[in-house]
Amino acid sequence: MLNDPRSHGLWEKTAPPPPPAPRLEEGVSADVVIVGGGYTGLSAALHLAQAGVDVRLLEAAEIGFGGAGRNVGLINAGMWVMPDDFPKELGPVYGEKLLDLLGNGPYLVRELIEKHGIACELEKNGTLHCAVGPGGMKELEERARQWQKRGAPVTLLDRAETERRIGTRAYAGSLLDMRAGTLQPLAYARGLAHAAVKAGAKLHTGSAVTGAGEANGRKVVKTAEGEVSADWIIVATDAYSTGPWETVRREQVHLPYFNLATAPLGDNLRRSILPSREGCWDTREILSSFRMDQAGRLIFGSVGALRGTGTAIHKAWSRRSLRRIFPQLGGVEFEAEWYGKIGMTDNALPRLHRFGRKVIGFSGYNGRGIAPGTSFGKLLARHILGHVAEADLPLPFTEPKEPGLRALKEAYYEAGAQFAHFAGERF
Ligand SMILES: Cc1cc2nc3c(=O)[nH]c(=O)nc-3n(C[C@H](O)[C@H](O)[C@H](O)COP(=O)(O)OP(=O)(O)OC[C@H]3O[C@@H](n4cnc5c(N)ncnc54)[C@H](O)[C@@H]3O)c2cc1C
Repeated sequence: MLNDPRSHGLWEKTAPPPPPAPRLEEGVSADVVIVGGGYTGLSAALHLAQAGVDVRLLEAAEIGFGGAGRNVGLINAGMWVMPDDFPKELGPVYGEKLLDLLGNGPYLVRELIEKHGIACELEKNGTLHCAVGPGGMKELEERARQWQKRGAPVTLLDRAETERRIGTRAYAGSLLDMRAGTLQPLAYARGLAHAAVKAGAKLHTGSAVTGAGEANGRKVVKTAEGEVSADWIIVATDAYSTGPWETVRREQVHLPYFNLATAPLGDNLRRSILPSREGCWDTREILSSFRMDQAGRLIFGSVGALRGTGTAIHKAWSRRSLRRIFPQLGGVEFEAEWYGKIGMTDNALPRLHRFGRKVIGFSGYNGRGIAPGTSFGKLLARHILGHVAEADLPLPFTEPKEPGLRALKEAYYEAGAQFAHFAGERF
């Protein structure tokens, strides 16, 4: 997007087109104005428009320009945080409510895809969290125990079953989560946009919000050439936030993450590597992820930015890693490469902010935004519609708080990933 082949890589090549969403060039009025065209904003727009609300969505660049068009496409249930740690961090009421919402998030994603006929390569065969060594297996055993006591459909797989499903002997075992799956992330965002437009929402791309205020008792947001006055503002700008709510971005530490896609694999390789197309990631601190797309491309990713010296280092390391994990692949060339910024919060849990009366938004999904963004967008719509009271929201409203040494931590993540991959970690 914006003439940068490393911004959305494969996803931009294979996603169906978005709906027309002309630049805002006039002053208009609406019931709700949504800022940001990712999963959170689009899901809110869809659910509000379906309820007959007059909605305008303003996106600075293009639909899916932020994390929504760049991610791995793993539709996860839950966060990195262990299930039992949710109530410890948020108290028993919010903790279990949030866990329940996140655990069921993938089902909402599936439901919307099916209901609106979104062509986004949905795979429903679950994800495999892969154990690196006995330490990784121990972590997964504990994760399995904590989810299973809540009735979640997760199963711990041993080394042999993991090998059968993935086509590698690299892992000591894995945790299969049947709620989860994979999709083509940009195609999903564009599909949500089509559904929202069909329901009556009006979308504008190339329309960055640069200012916000109040006039005649209504909220007003301004773009370069237009403005919207509305009763409510939804802020759905997350890690790519610019303009009046840049504070959302400043609350997070950005973790760069890249993906590389091979050309479609031949039939024999597709029979041996992920024949059932589960989405995978491992238990390492500097993790790796891999999955197939519908055409049989293997998509491999890890922490790092594909810029400067990082490009060559991360690509060389990825080739070495793929050879070790899947010796049957032989040498690989990559057909597409891209990267983005994952917004991490200090406790690895999302945030709900009120920036003023009737100005609200969720953010901070810590690399787990497909299902949460979709669920939170719907929830914001239901809250505005009066169907969910403030007391029933899954998070308390908190003030955005900038973490100490943010810039230093971000530089450390980017340089640290280069160092680790240059030094050539085993996987
Ligand atoms: C490389 C990478 C890998 C990831 N992998 C996964 C994964 O496998 N599974 C998963 O669930 N999640 C993953 N994530 C996280 C996920 O992509 C995000 O959490 C999700 O996209 C957040 O959705 P959102 O709608 O809140 O924000 P975004 O998708 O980031 O959308 C925000 C939008 O707001 C727009 N915007 C910002 N400021 C303004 C303004 N002033 N005016 C108008 N518009 C504005 C931006 O241009 C952007 O399009 C990954 C993220 C990255 C970057």
